[in-house]
Amino acid sequence: MPKFSSEPRLGAWGAKPRERRFGRHAMPQLPPAFDEIVRTHFPGALPESAFVRRCALTLIQDHGFTPQNTLPCVGVCRDQLCRPLSDRIRELWSDPFDLSALGGFPTLGRTGLAAARANAPRVGGRARLAFFLLSHLGLGPEGEIGLVERRGLAEPSLACGALVALLRERSAAGRPPPPEDWGDSELSLLRRHLARAGALEPGADLLRLTKAAHRAGLAALEALIGEALDERRDDFAVVAGVQIHGPGSSGLVWPGASYIVVGGRRAEIWC
Ligand SMILES: [Zn+2]
Repeated sequence: MPKFSSEPRLGAWGAKPRERRFGRHAMPQLPPAFDEIVRTHFPGALPESAFVRRCALTLIQDHGFTPQNTLPCVGVCRDQLCRPLSDRIRELWSDPFDLSALGGFPTLGRTGLAAARANAPRVGGRARLAFFLLSHLGLGPEGEIGLVERRGLAEPSLACGALVALLRERSAAGRPPPPEDWGDSELSLLRRHLARAGALEPGADLLRLTKAAHRAGLAALEALIGEALDERRDDFAVVAGVQIHGPGSSGLVWPGASYIVVGGRRAEIWC
């Protein structure tokens, strides 16, 4: 069961608490070089916990998407670094339908999304779902793109590993992209969508590829929603962004697109 479920408790936070709680003063102390990269490339990034709470406040208080009437659907990378964010969403909402795959790219297909719809609570006969979709990136204390510390490893490693793999195969001079491989289906699908978006062309780097993966994942999710949901019968929210794994297990989220579609009408929301 969700740990909070009542509007009164949320309302007790006051009419305009969010700016105070989640302004930059609420950010943890971060190394200056790290902070500079975040400010430059991910303006508006905030701690994971603040992001999840802010989204919940907006969806519950402003739009009536509650833990009781909404199925959360969470897509993050399979990397264990991404799990705490998924757990935070589960704590505030309920057990989510899992969209997770390599790179945080939605590979479940229309059948998977149709299953989520079938499982979702109904409000006046209308299915209600909230999609959370996040790509991710490691970021070292000196702003080293991709680097992240991991328990049990003496040296920093790279995240997202799937995107790094795509960069490495692309940078192998003269080597054509590997064919699509049913034995490596998630990476194949991610590669295909990023290639179509032109994100694997020469000059690609991990920072740009991460943002491209965010956009491609969102586009793929929206295409699946278009196939598996019916805006005349279903209401849903979409919240997308990029997880940033910083030094000392600090986790930030850069908020990307966020909107709801209720009664067939789309409205941007603040997440
Ligand atoms: Zn990853």
